Amino acid sequence: MRRVYLDHNATTPVHPEVLEAMMPFFQDQFGNASSIHWAGREVKKYLDDAREKVAALLNATPEEVIFTGCGTESDNMAIKGVAYALQDKGRHIITTEVEHHAVFHTCQFLEKAGFEVTYLPVDSDGLIDLEKLRLSIKNQTILITIMFANNETGTVFPVQEIGEMARGKGVIFHTDAIQAVGKLPIDLKQLPVDILSLSGHKLYAPKGIGAQYIRAGTKLTSLIHGGGQERNRRAGTENIPYIIGLGKASEIAQRDFQGRREHLLALRERLHRGIINRIPHVKLNGHPTKRLPNTLNLSFLYIEGESLLLNLDLEGIAVSSGSACTSGSLEPSHVLLAMGIPHEIAQSAIRLSLGWSNTQEDVDYVVEVLPRIVQRLRDISPLYQKRVSRSK
Ligand code: PLP
Repeated sequence: MRRVYLDHNATTPVHPEVLEAMMPFFQDQFGNASSIHWAGREVKKYLDDAREKVAALLNATPEEVIFTGCGTESDNMAIKGVAYALQDKGRHIITTEVEHHAVFHTCQFLEKAGFEVTYLPVDSDGLIDLEKLRLSIKNQTILITIMFANNETGTVFPVQEIGEMARGKGVIFHTDAIQAVGKLPIDLKQLPVDILSLSGHKLYAPKGIGAQYIRAGTKLTSLIHGGGQERNRRAGTENIPYIIGLGKASEIAQRDFQGRREHLLALRERLHRGIINRIPHVKLNGHPTKRLPNTLNLSFLYIEGESLLLNLDLEGIAVSSGSACTSGSLEPSHVLLAMGIPHEIAQSAIRLSLGWSNTQEDVDYVVEVLPRIVQRLRDISPLYQKRVSRSK
């Protein structure tokens, strides 16, 4: 059976060049970067080189980049790190209702510890109202944490404007850019961002490696104590093979940026057109234009996204429903609900997220298989039957 992977926002395969770059660091170049002998010194050079590559992708300086264990750790480090560092100044944090759980649950944790968190609502495109953000900043506000692009809908936030507002009020701005890095141009010399989180496995590097950009001079309390690695910001012997992988993936992302972007946009357009030309009652979720080039979140009205996902899986097609499975009950995505999408329509959503290795043939296969599955599910859907009998 043909296999098509359209879930690159969940994770990406390691790029062959990345794997190749990593391999020597499991055996030949095994040194500890903190050791002063030859084995350590050699590895330290490659560590510095990887840091330069990540910094170059973001147009930052290497001194502003540290490596972490994953994107979730980067988010925790930013939010708790600022909260702990500035709690004497104020205990108010601003975020949105559509953040990834890595941010959302960290904010909830801090609420339990006595911090106040404002969760900004979003409109039907998934965007915040900048005026509401401005009005919610108070003297006690120490941090604004708002994602660069949403993982479920791909909606891209006005990071420039948010950053300017934060800067104008003397508030630190952290952005979870885990879905944006490599897919959108990010120039930290221009963007007023103080802290930025990224994750390797969304970028064709392995799982379990992340990075954090921290603008020089930004106050942050470390969460992990031990040795003095990563400028005392994140103790622990560096995961050299994975860091090398993230460095290589960043270099490739920069090198192939334009080609990948055009490829993804063309495939996404073909997929979207193919679907809506063949299947009625399909609704796009997320901003129609301010969106990641690879992401398509669609509601197939009258059926459940979860059933669609399982049926597509049987045909070798991997997508995501965006639903969280909590204690056996299928809850629709908090992101779609926050956008004011009715429960039923939110539950009928699937996310298709493309990657650089997807082809036109992949897309055409999905466009061929999907109408059959949707029709079959609609034929047994009480909601659809009700609609059909009403229209008779
Ligand atoms: N933030 C966003 C927007 C994400 O999409 C993800 C991963 O799905 C994360 C945070 C967590 O990253 P990681 O899986 O590296 O911990």
